Amino acid sequence: MSIVDLPLLPLGKGRDLDAERGVECPGDLPAASDPGLVERARAAKAALGERLFVLGHHYQRDEVIQFADVTGDSFKLARDAAGRPAAEFIVFCGVHFMAESADILTSPTQRVILPDLAAGCSMADMARLRQVEDAWDAMADAGIQDSVVPVTYMNSSADIKAFCGRNGGVVCTSSNADVALEWAQEQRPGAKILFLPDQHLGRNTAVLKMGMSLEDCVVWDPQQPGGGLSAEELQDARMILWKGHCSVHGRFSADVVDELRIKHPGINILVHPECTHEVVLKADLVGSTEFIIKTIEAAEPGTVWAIGTELNLVQRLKDAHPDKTIVFLDRNVCYCSTMNRIDLPHLVWALENLVAGTVVNQITVDPETEADALLALQRMLDLPGKSHRD
Ligand code: SF4
Repeated sequence: MSIVDLPLLPLGKGRDLDAERGVECPGDLPAASDPGLVERARAAKAALGERLFVLGHHYQRDEVIQFADVTGDSFKLARDAAGRPAAEFIVFCGVHFMAESADILTSPTQRVILPDLAAGCSMADMARLRQVEDAWDAMADAGIQDSVVPVTYMNSSADIKAFCGRNGGVVCTSSNADVALEWAQEQRPGAKILFLPDQHLGRNTAVLKMGMSLEDCVVWDPQQPGGGLSAEELQDARMILWKGHCSVHGRFSADVVDELRIKHPGINILVHPECTHEVVLKADLVGSTEFIIKTIEAAEPGTVWAIGTELNLVQRLKDAHPDKTIVFLDRNVCYCSTMNRIDLPHLVWALENLVAGTVVNQITVDPETEADALLALQRMLDLPGKSHRD
């Protein structure tokens, strides 16, 4: 079995350095039951002062987010880190691909730390460089490679961003995916787009914003020989979607939307575009995490909302807006398990090591990958119009 065919490892177990899910952390963590953890985190932050900048993704736990100097989505956080050159240590409370992006966008003297190396992203793991290169070769065999522009979602590993950079492609976020697709279409006559790694964001954007039909889209399955597609299917497609998805947003289902509309007449359904096409078609509003936050902030008191995104964020919005009724768009509890790997014991452990002069869990991207990934990121920054939030 080759490395690209390996099934997903249980989180935090074993070693697979090519994968986003990372490895186990070295050293002893404080016990989660330690009543002094909050005080220890405060003391370590105070000791590090301006040398430290803590970033907290919107999907992080409350126990962690309370120590974030800034909160936001992955791209905003990486840019915030780049805007704080005096901060020697960037502790990224998020997942591995986000820490990689921060390393790419910050200066070489800044060190990016992920408190738990097992905080990967199952979606990013679904597109490995070897698999994408195999697909790229198959596109050459089908005679279409010259017309394909690769576009990768921010939620991908640095080497996938670098692949896009060196092959004339671009990075996008969920806010600017339509602008990135428009840009890609303009790059070559009759351009086709290879969209990585989230098939749902790619499909929702192509069909609902770019005027493509579902028949214009095909799905490349890296687990199937030839992606499960014939040369003719590749030649006929306008949008080649990578078969990846978010394990959190992919759970929301259209029948729950129907149930909620019966239970709460007048309810507003607000979802992230990583949800399936069926769910997005039934929603009232679709947008990025920043869009979801702003929509709820601007909503009238007394309105009722069901939100389809990660539960930590939904819970915080509910707590912050007691004048509105906010429910979660799933029957079950649904946290991002890898985001939740970052807990207070890991944060305290990382911070106290920094105070003691030891940098643990540093995330580094090699210079060649970084240079190619920067090309794709810069093309995104040069896109007209919209913000670059995801
Ligand atoms: S919420 Fe989805 S895309 Fe985001 S880190 Fe978790 S698995 Fe990855």
